[in-house]
Amino acid sequence: MSDIDNCTHDCSTCGVDCPSREASGNNPADFLEEPHQFSSIKKVIGVISGKGGVGKSMVSALLAVLLNRMGYKTAVLDADITGPSIPKMFGLHGKAGATDSALLPVSTKMGIDIMSVNLLLEDETSPVIWRGPVIAGVVKQFWTDVIWEDVDFMFVDMPPGTGDVPLTIFQSLPVDGIVVVTSPQELVSMIVTKAVAMAKMMDIPILGIVENMSYATCPDCGKRINIFGESKLEDTATKHGLEVLAQIPINPTLSEASDQGLIELFDGDWLDIAAAKIESMLDK
Ligand code: ADP
Repeated sequence: MSDIDNCTHDCSTCGVDCPSREASGNNPADFLEEPHQFSSIKKVIGVISGKGGVGKSMVSALLAVLLNRMGYKTAVLDADITGPSIPKMFGLHGKAGATDSALLPVSTKMGIDIMSVNLLLEDETSPVIWRGPVIAGVVKQFWTDVIWEDVDFMFVDMPPGTGDVPLTIFQSLPVDGIVVVTSPQELVSMIVTKAVAMAKMMDIPILGIVENMSYATCPDCGKRINIFGESKLEDTATKHGLEVLAQIPINPTLSEASDQGLIELFDGDWLDIAAAKIESMLDK
């Protein structure tokens, strides 16, 4: 059965470009959800990747930490509902609070506000076995029903891929810019092309590409080892007219810090250019 045969007549949960969508308007702004009345969020940055495990959550977390260190109030909306890893990176295991009409994010030690499905589940190790529209609905609620107070930069750790769920999220949240995270192996695939196409369709600027797990540094001699061969990053970026924001090495200290919930203590300057570019969004 085609997607159109499955039509639920709810365009907000569907990315299919069909005639009835035309009738309801094709403007991305048509599907935007309002944040909670007590929320204040200046800029929303979506962090995307083609597949899981390339470090999208790591980059979301590191950017939130960096901008926080620069004196801004930051937040992470963990939209990777089936693979939530943000709370663990920050060492959060508590439950999100709630009022009669809203959910409250959990604050990290440095004061970064986090909302994730793992902060709501009775048992954080339970798998989330929900269908796409339900997942997208939960992410929308993380936007509409959570009080995000005085946030300068919110990072949305998106579900991997360019399927229906990320598309619905992009239609529902007013994303100001996208950071594409890739790994060297991924660059040779079509993912960057797909991500660029999705961003263009949504009319959202891509801030640039971050290549994670780019290389390793020999602990003895400091030599840079290109584990996956020569990087294709520059070629790919040029092909799509994108800026290279960073190349992050495979770094055991980084994975240890994230495994131990101590990502806020990370030490590294890989994402400084990306952070400065995001900071400059406030001028616009
Ligand atoms: P994604 O969000 O894309 O699924 P994650 O950010 O959760 O991926 O990263 C997957 C795993 O790889 C995590 O255990 C994380 O700690 C580790 N990791 C990510 N980037 C690096 C890196 N540059 N060096 C070492 N480990 C990393």
